[in-house]
Amino acid sequence: MSKVLIVGAGGVGNVVAHKCAQLPEVFEHIVLASRTLSRCQKIALDVAALQGRQIDIAQVDADDLAQMQGLLAQHRPDVVINVALPYQDLHIMDACLATNIAYLDTANYEPKDVAKFEYKWQWAYQSRYHDANLMALLGSGFDPGVTNVYCAYAQKHLFDEIETIDILDCNGGDHGYAFATNFNPEINIREITQRGRYWEDGEWKETDSLSVKQDYDFPAVGVRKAYLLYHEELESLVKNIKGLRRIRFWMTFGEQYLTHLSVLQNVGMTRIDPIDFQGHKIIPIEFLKALLPDPASLGAGYQGKTSIGCEIVGTKDGKPRKVFIYNVCDHADCWKEVRAQAVSYTTGVPAMIGALLMVTGKWSGHGVFNMEQFDPDPFMDALNRYGLPWDIRED
Ligand code: NDP
Repeated sequence: MSKVLIVGAGGVGNVVAHKCAQLPEVFEHIVLASRTLSRCQKIALDVAALQGRQIDIAQVDADDLAQMQGLLAQHRPDVVINVALPYQDLHIMDACLATNIAYLDTANYEPKDVAKFEYKWQWAYQSRYHDANLMALLGSGFDPGVTNVYCAYAQKHLFDEIETIDILDCNGGDHGYAFATNFNPEINIREITQRGRYWEDGEWKETDSLSVKQDYDFPAVGVRKAYLLYHEELESLVKNIKGLRRIRFWMTFGEQYLTHLSVLQNVGMTRIDPIDFQGHKIIPIEFLKALLPDPASLGAGYQGKTSIGCEIVGTKDGKPRKVFIYNVCDHADCWKEVRAQAVSYTTGVPAMIGALLMVTGKWSGHGVFNMEQFDPDPFMDALNRYGLPWDIRED
């Protein structure tokens, strides 16, 4: 029996609240806190209606250390699930350290003024978490998250040596809008418009944004164009998967999405630096976020599936082997179960599973950890049990 405190009442926070509520034998007490209380209220009503559980809610600005610390001291949860924005990561990690509470998130820290995706800021907490006998689990979403666990599983069970990994993320669904992002628009657009980067033969190589692409045959979706991007899990997997020669990350985009994105970029709407507008400073990407559909609102009517996995090449018993380990998730099924679309669902379920393994002691340690550093087996079992079943295609 444990108590969990979820920070962030967006698309992902909604899924985490529902999935924790489905496990009363583990999560006896659930608190959902966010900047805007009305969003917590709406989720609490949905959780009561669909899961038959009451959850507590609270208002907090997680960037205000005193407020965040006060909230943790008041509720004393066993673990904090941070599904607010990456900008809040360090503030919430500080509050957890100050109150001696374990920490979990789904996206690495980003400074607001530069779109930089690096673990260095959070890895710098290693000794402080270690010395406080506390655990922080980083990146327990789908990618990062499940993709890291797939790689650890392949290393443990499927290969003697892994040579290359390609992480491939396809959303084959249709939400019916001309242009919308499936998770926080600001974070999503910052990620996609940066330069591409991958690791090969011991060094990082850069590409122009969205300039490298391939056609890939995704299970349950079919052939889609996938574009090479930098993604944060590459940084930790390079350290933790032995013998790796190359690792890349790919994401699919439709023509319509790319055309909109390119126009927005060309006119300066994706800029993250402040500009002067009628005597006010505004940040164009924040203004754009206010115009775009809220990702949490895309679920009703969303059709189609996500198909995300890791294509891994290497050797087993002296023979070459190539596998694709993947999950397929249906948008409409997610809506029925937890009032969410599949991108929020595939992030929120692994966040719940990470917390489950922490509070039950199946994953434990002192310090700051990435997902692939733990035994993948209990996580892989839990994926099958709690809504994200996986499969392996031998190629
Ligand atoms: P949303 O924008 O829908 O939700 C974010 C929530 O965080 C909002 O409710 C927002 O409050 C709240 N919030 C923002 N700032 C603060 C603050 N200072 N204090 C308290 N609450 C705050 O985002 P998503 O739910 O789509 O994404 C959540 C996280 O999940 C992001 O970090 C994203 O990067 C990550 N993610 C990870 C994925 C993975 O596979 N690993 C995939 C998809 C997302 P308000 O309502 O007031 O704006």
